[in-house]
Amino acid sequence: MPELPDVEIFRRVLERHGLNRIVTAVEVRDPRIVVGITPAAFARALGGDRLLATRRHGKNLFAARGRGGHLRMHFGMTGALEPFREEPPAHARILYRFAQGPHLAHVDVRRLGRVGLVKDIGAWLEAEGIGPDALDPALTAEWFAEALGGGRRSIKLVLMDQGLVAGIGNVYADEILFRAGLRPDVPVSALDEGWRERLFAAMREVLQTAVDCGAAAERYVERLPDDFLTKRRGKGAHCPRCDTPLETLRIGGRRSYFCPRCQIDPRG
Ligand SMILES: [Zn+2]
Repeated sequence: MPELPDVEIFRRVLERHGLNRIVTAVEVRDPRIVVGITPAAFARALGGDRLLATRRHGKNLFAARGRGGHLRMHFGMTGALEPFREEPPAHARILYRFAQGPHLAHVDVRRLGRVGLVKDIGAWLEAEGIGPDALDPALTAEWFAEALGGGRRSIKLVLMDQGLVAGIGNVYADEILFRAGLRPDVPVSALDEGWRERLFAAMREVLQTAVDCGAAAERYVERLPDDFLTKRRGKGAHCPRCDTPLETLRIGGRRSYFCPRCQIDPRG
C-alpha cells in the first residue's frame, strides 16, 4: 500500500510533470475511482485548468488548481502516478493529458484509490478525521507521547491510525517498531515516557530516511538502506541486524514482521 514515502514520490512526479501546464483533457477510464462528483463533471472541471502547486498530507496528494480549490488523489492499496508519452501504462484508471507529453496516469491494479475535488484542504482533513502529517515539523515528542494515549490497542494499530498521525501503513509501522525495538503487539498502555520518545524518534528517522532515499514500500524498495527491515519482508527472512529469523503476527488483518530478539515487550 502506498504510504507516506511512496506518496512523496508521486508528489515529485506531479511537481515535475504536471505543474503550470494546461490540462487539455482528463479521461476517466474507471468511474469507481472518482468520488464526490460525477466522472464527467470531474473531467470537465479539470479540462483546460492548470495545476499550480502540490501538497502531500499523509497518504493524500493535493494539487492546487488555477480555477480554485484542489485536486485530491489517494492511491489505495496499489495506486501510483506515472508519467507516459504515447501508450498509457497498464491499469491506468485516469489519464491527465497535456498538449504535449509527458502525460500523467493514475494507475491502480486493485482500483481502491480515490480522486476528487476539494475546496479547502484543512477543512477536508478535519471532516475526514485525518491527523497531522507524520513528518510535520511542528510535531513534538511531547505531543506524540500524549496523543498515543493508553488502552489495550496494540502499538502497531495505533501507529497506523490516520487520525493520530497520517501517512503510516503496514510496512512502515513494522519498520518504525523495528527501529524503536518494540514488538508490534505491545499494548500502548505498556509504553512509558521513554518508549514513547524513542518511538517518535524512530518514526521521524524511518520516514525521513525513506523520503530522502526516494524509496517506497512498493516501489524502489532497493533504494532503502540495508539495515531496513522492509527489504527483508518475505518467507525465510532474517533480521538485518542480528540475523535471527524474523517472525510474523497478524494484526488488524495484516501481516507484521518483527525480530524476536531485537524487538521486546517492555512488560517483560
Ligand atoms: Zn534482530
